[in-house]
Amino acid sequence: MSIYVCGPTVYNFIHIGNARPVIVFDTLRRYFESKGNVVRFASNFTDVDDKIIQKAIAEGKPELEISSRYIEAFLKDVADLGSKTDYIQPKVTEYMAPIIAYIDHLVQTGYAYVVEGDVYFRVSKIEEYGHLSNRKIDDLQSGSRVEINEKKENPLDFALWKKTKEGITWESNFGPGRPGWHTECCVMIDEIFGGAIDIHGGGADLIFPHHENEIAQSVATHQHGIASFWMHNGRLNIEGNDSEEKMSKSAGSIVWVKDLKDKLAFRLYVLATHYRAPLNFSFTHLETYEKEFQKMTQTIHAMKRKLDLANELVGDSAHQEDLASIRERFDAALELDFNTPNAITELQALLKSMNILLRQPFDAALWRQALVYADEMTEILGLQVPYSPLSLADKELFDRWDDARKNKDFAKADEVRGELQKKGLL
Ligand SMILES: [Zn+2]
Repeated sequence: MSIYVCGPTVYNFIHIGNARPVIVFDTLRRYFESKGNVVRFASNFTDVDDKIIQKAIAEGKPELEISSRYIEAFLKDVADLGSKTDYIQPKVTEYMAPIIAYIDHLVQTGYAYVVEGDVYFRVSKIEEYGHLSNRKIDDLQSGSRVEINEKKENPLDFALWKKTKEGITWESNFGPGRPGWHTECCVMIDEIFGGAIDIHGGGADLIFPHHENEIAQSVATHQHGIASFWMHNGRLNIEGNDSEEKMSKSAGSIVWVKDLKDKLAFRLYVLATHYRAPLNFSFTHLETYEKEFQKMTQTIHAMKRKLDLANELVGDSAHQEDLASIRERFDAALELDFNTPNAITELQALLKSMNILLRQPFDAALWRQALVYADEMTEILGLQVPYSPLSLADKELFDRWDDARKNKDFAKADEVRGELQKKGLL
């Protein structure tokens, strides 16, 4: 199975809007993997771009120093958000030769044309243009959002190569310059996956023009589209701001991922909304999810610790079916249009059952089964809570606490309790 997600332009840290696809598509990958699929997952780094060049000029540093700084920062954020970092990470600068060859081929076959060192794609040659975004070419042409450029045959034509003298440039048959943004994903998908993939992901803001333009280039090059399925995550708006766009434009209203204090709680928050729906972020809601995530962690830890402390393994498998049906409903939710909010509801149901079990007589088999499900479900959602089994010394401490309470030695019990708390075990 192959998944490709359009990645970041690395000229700054990422804000919480940028984090949404990072969380959504990592969870999708995890779900497919939990079902036994081998998933080849790629997401690119746009490390050549006007914004990177502007930053390089402003700081007096080479572009590659800027991009590698923010690639490193991005991957740290990705890991902190509970997403996997072991995916294929193509960079534009490493794909320049195939990108130039790809554009050259489009020119040779009449799908692109050169004007004074710039290269543009001839959109009128693609009948399917506009299908993905459900737009008509005529409407697009008369739309005011299309920039006017005298050099283009048609206002919808998009740049494949830009002639420039500013910043980093590459040599090509069309002259020195750098590629436009829309070609890199096509070339990377060609080089990594051989021309087509199962699922192409990205933010809904990329549907037009970026993904339309990817399809157009693929149709021109291979006579077929680029992906069997397209998945687009909805926008993330900050309450009080009317759009994500506004967040990226006005510095004061940006919420950086690196500044979030509990990044897994933010992940829970993101997944609690269906991936296609808009998400209205507020700090009040975030606090609710921080508390919720803390509660989840406490329940799982409490059960693991009590199992650690159990001397004998007793119990039967009565009630296991109730837990098994929760586990089944969890998968069913994801199977049906990747409904993570419903999956989270099932995880909450499991945790509620675990809290009831914790108050009932010890049942090792049942508890272990509950924990297997909790681990599987949190692993799929990327919400695993690390747990270190109790050491022998810690177990002895719990025993001393127990003994003191049994002997009604409350001063001693309090003292041991304090020690346990200090070690973070209570
Ligand atoms: Zn892309």
